[in-house]
Formats: sequence, C-alpha cells, structure tokens
Amino acid sequence: MNILVVEDDPSVRTLVKAVLEHNGNTVSTEDTVASGEKAAVEGNFDMIILDLGLPDGDGYELCKNIRDKNVITPVLILSGEQEADVKVKCLRVGADDYLTKPFNTEELIARLEAIQRRTEASGDQVLSCGELKVDLLKREFMINSEKVQLTNNEFNLLVYFIKHKNKIITQEELAEKVWDIHFDTQTNYINVYISYLRKKIREHTEVDYIETIRKKGFTFRCE
Ligand code: CA
Repeated sequence: MNILVVEDDPSVRTLVKAVLEHNGNTVSTEDTVASGEKAAVEGNFDMIILDLGLPDGDGYELCKNIRDKNVITPVLILSGEQEADVKVKCLRVGADDYLTKPFNTEELIARLEAIQRRTEASGDQVLSCGELKVDLLKREFMINSEKVQLTNNEFNLLVYFIKHKNKIITQEELAEKVWDIHFDTQTNYINVYISYLRKKIREHTEVDYIETIRKKGFTFRCE
C-alpha cells in the first residue's frame, strides 16, 4: 500500500514509517494539518494514518475536510487520547478506525489490513455513469476501460457532477462545493474547467455528458 502518515512527533513518525516499510508499504510523511491535507487531496494514497494533536490544528479537522473534498482514502487515527467520546468523534467525521498510543505494531498492521479488506469488499469506491467509470480511491477516470488523465480540479468536478447527475447545478454551487470558495461572477474559471473536462470526455466518446442549461448552469446526463 501507499500510505500517508501525518504525525508531528518525530519518534512516533519514524517508528510507524519503519514498521510500515518493513511490511512492504511505501510511506510518505507530513507533520501538520495543512501539509497533511494537501498531500491527502493531491496524492494517491491507499491509506492515511493520522495523529490528532498536530501543531496547527487537530486530526478531526483534516479528516472532515478531506471527506468534504470527496477523498475517500481510509483513515486510521493513531492517538494518545483514550476517551470513548474522542473515538466516537473520529468515526463520525469519517475515520475508519482508531488505535490508541502506545500501540502494538502487529495490531497496527492487522488493523490496516482489515480496513483494506473492508474497503475492497464494499465496492463503494467506484462511481459509474454510462460508459464512464470513476475510481474514487485510486482517483482514476476511465471511459470504456480507457484511462483518462485529469487534473485534481477536473477530477473533483467530475465526481461532483456524477454524484449529482441529471440535476441542474449552478456555478455558485460548484464554486462552493468543489472549490470551497464564494462564486465571483467576474471570473470565468468554472466555465474554463468545465470546457477542459468536456473536451477530455469528448476525446473518448461521442456522448456529450455535460449539458449547458442557459442562464442556469449545467446538467451531467446519466441514463
Ligand atoms: Ca501529536
């Protein structure tokens, strides 16, 4: 697995990295909420191991923010907090499991394997729409089994469209939900991203999935 470890304590970080690598995984590390969130959104990880007490905020925030951005990478929280309400809060913001420090390294590996089995068995990571298929975990987009390269913005836009298929979606909604910003009518960038995405789709299929609804927005057509 390709694993992201977000942990600010150097000794724990080094230990976790060594244990994971010893078990055949590839590991990247970050030590703040901001850098961890950026890596989680932009990277292509199979698993995230997350500490709660980070210098610029807490792990809940990171977990909640990446879920809001459609990152479905499984998250295991590794924390010194033993209280049941902390564990409940973690699971409620989208974490998949919780392990208390100090931890047994074999238990960590076993829990990660169990999360991976559950994720693979659920099949929830794949969205489809006609001949289009999106793997949310691998962040892959396929048209008729052919891989299409998308930028992060294009990918996030596509996921939002497919999740809200056959509905009219306004530019304001896209700005807020996909880009997390207030829509500014002076700028044209949402239209620009939509045209990039439309062009990439049309290179692989005759179907025009993105319909422009005059003065209202867009509709992503899925049968
Ligand atoms: Ca910490």
